[in-house]
Amino acid sequence: MDVILFGPPGAGKGTQASAVCEALGVPHVSTGDIFRRHLREGTELGLLAKSYMSKGELVPDSTVVDIVATRLSESDAAGGVLFDGFPRTVNQATLLDRWLRQNGRKVDVVLNLVVDDKVVHARLSGRRSCLSCGATYHVLHQAPAVEGVCDRCGSDVVQRDDDSEGTVWKRLETYHSQTAPVLGWARGVCRVVDIDANRPISEVGQAVVAALSS
Ligand code: ADP
Ligand code: AMP
Repeated sequence: MDVILFGPPGAGKGTQASAVCEALGVPHVSTGDIFRRHLREGTELGLLAKSYMSKGELVPDSTVVDIVATRLSESDAAGGVLFDGFPRTVNQATLLDRWLRQNGRKVDVVLNLVVDDKVVHARLSGRRSCLSCGATYHVLHQAPAVEGVCDRCGSDVVQRDDDSEGTVWKRLETYHSQTAPVLGWARGVCRVVDIDANRPISEVGQAVVAALSS
């Protein structure tokens, strides 16, 4: 099954992803995580991505589509994946749709996490991340057991550069102008389930799992 976990930055996509992947038995494909890995490894792609990420802008479609095509060619992706943070433009969506159809697949469902901008702002400002394994935390809603230390891998938990005050609003603006239109495209080609994600993490999780089995 190919599923898109959709919503603005900070909606809770990464937080809900592991439960969805476990339920469906598919890998998690987060383009943001792939760019951050490249950045950690100091690759050319990582440096290019950083120049956009740090400004709250989107990495150009051609680069994004290339990294997704590479990821989809890996053997664990043959039976479907959970997309997180992709597609982020209508152009990315149509290219994904074409690639999937050429390979006898399709987008089965879009899980659309609907969250108010003010809630998103509070979530992003309070988000803390492990730059080593990608686990995310929140200073109020989901703190690590030991402050500043990742529960999963023991590395440092820090604030992402692009979660700073100035960049958060810019990322929301980018979402509304360039990414939200993907929903219009999706409603025309596949099932879209709108999920009220203003609720606590466990309630959103239950709604997400229910949407998969409906
Ligand atoms: P996304 O992957 O959509 O950018 P994350 O999953 O990283 O968003 O969540 C953003 C922040 O909000 C994180 O700090 C996370 O712990 C917190 N968070 C996620 N879902 C909820 C929720 N339902 N209620 C409160 N905080 C949440
Ligand atoms: P995320 O971790 O999904 O919030 O992504 C962090 C940043 O990576 C975004 O603000 C963009 O700069 C970049 N990015 C991630 N995914 C995409 C994508 N599908 N298209 C363009 N840029 C992306």
